[in-house]
Amino acid sequence: MDAGLKRELEAKVYAGERLTREDGIALYESDDLVWLGRLAHHVRTEKNGDRVMFNVNRHLNLTNVCSASCAYCSFQRKPGEKDAYTMRIEEAVRLAKQMEGEQLTELHIVNGLHPTLPWKYYPRVLRELKAVLPNVNLKAFTATEIHWFERISGLPADQILDELIDAGLESLTGGGAEIFDWEIRQHIVDHNTHWEDWSRIHRLAHSKGLKTPSTMLYGHIEEPRHRVDHVLRLRELQDETGGFQVFIPLRYQHDFVDSADGKIRNRIQAQTTMASPAESLKTFAVSRLLFDNVPHVKCFWVMHGLSVAQLSLNFGVDDLDGSVVEYKITHDADSYGTPNTMHREDLLQLIQDAGFRPVERNTRYEVVREYDAPKSLAERRSVPQQVWA
Ligand code: SF4
Repeated sequence: MDAGLKRELEAKVYAGERLTREDGIALYESDDLVWLGRLAHHVRTEKNGDRVMFNVNRHLNLTNVCSASCAYCSFQRKPGEKDAYTMRIEEAVRLAKQMEGEQLTELHIVNGLHPTLPWKYYPRVLRELKAVLPNVNLKAFTATEIHWFERISGLPADQILDELIDAGLESLTGGGAEIFDWEIRQHIVDHNTHWEDWSRIHRLAHSKGLKTPSTMLYGHIEEPRHRVDHVLRLRELQDETGGFQVFIPLRYQHDFVDSADGKIRNRIQAQTTMASPAESLKTFAVSRLLFDNVPHVKCFWVMHGLSVAQLSLNFGVDDLDGSVVEYKITHDADSYGTPNTMHREDLLQLIQDAGFRPVERNTRYEVVREYDAPKSLAERRSVPQQVWA
């Protein structure tokens, strides 16, 4: 990028001017990672100061049986496969009971598109989970699942969301977005929930007072222009509804054959490498700069490793997904040794060691607890430091 364009973009960012599609593409073309980080850090600091939010949550996948076979997915199984499972409601409740006393504020539930489970299973399971964990926010189902419920129940999303909200639903999850541009989407997604239905369902959820996350799966066969297009669609919807709380760039993961049957399910991995840490940091930074009307940008550390998660805090990220004790969808595709358990103390140390102030939040981004600002560097170095994987 020439110095003139750099100065122009810098001036726009510091003046708080909205960036265009061309600006987004130009930012991706820049290899000046430090410069990108500085711009994104300016925006994240304007919006969120020195705070880094996190929540203490658990993930629950009720079933891995799925009617679709998305090309990037390592999680789905077909009925009868060796490690296919579907939880009975009692089993989900038993797991929830084990979580009592963990000081969770959120249970995050996503599932395969099960071919035969009846629609009524889903509100019932939510209701029973809420009875066991009354103080825990239930963040459940992707827009793809809601669209699937429309199909299996014959009901409109409007009625489905009302019933789920009545059963305890407090937020949808952000999944199913992947890359919206059809040029790429047609090669990676194997269900029929595309931008039109994904946005319809989130718009509807926002109209009912739910706040939702938004995501993007990057680092596979897409190009930077597809990432830019993806973010701009979300930005436009956010102008309309204001219902997105956070944007979460999710790094596509290769399948390292850790499933019980040894099968590689990722059908696109022969065509692509995974995004490098530098590419991930650039994606966080450009996302923060382009998606100017979303309050938060999150790093889901399970997909990036803790070192990149810590660095991302200087590249526009102000939110880390919290104490995940178990997360099957990613870990079926992960051989990096990324720990799948992160406790409050570890997270506090990771945030403070990077020079930020940790703030525990709930699903609605309300403050649960504020922590101290980081100690001085000299104090932090007076005790042995953990080396993050
Ligand atoms: S990404 Fe979701 S819908 Fe697609 S195959 Fe995997 S579980 Fe099924």
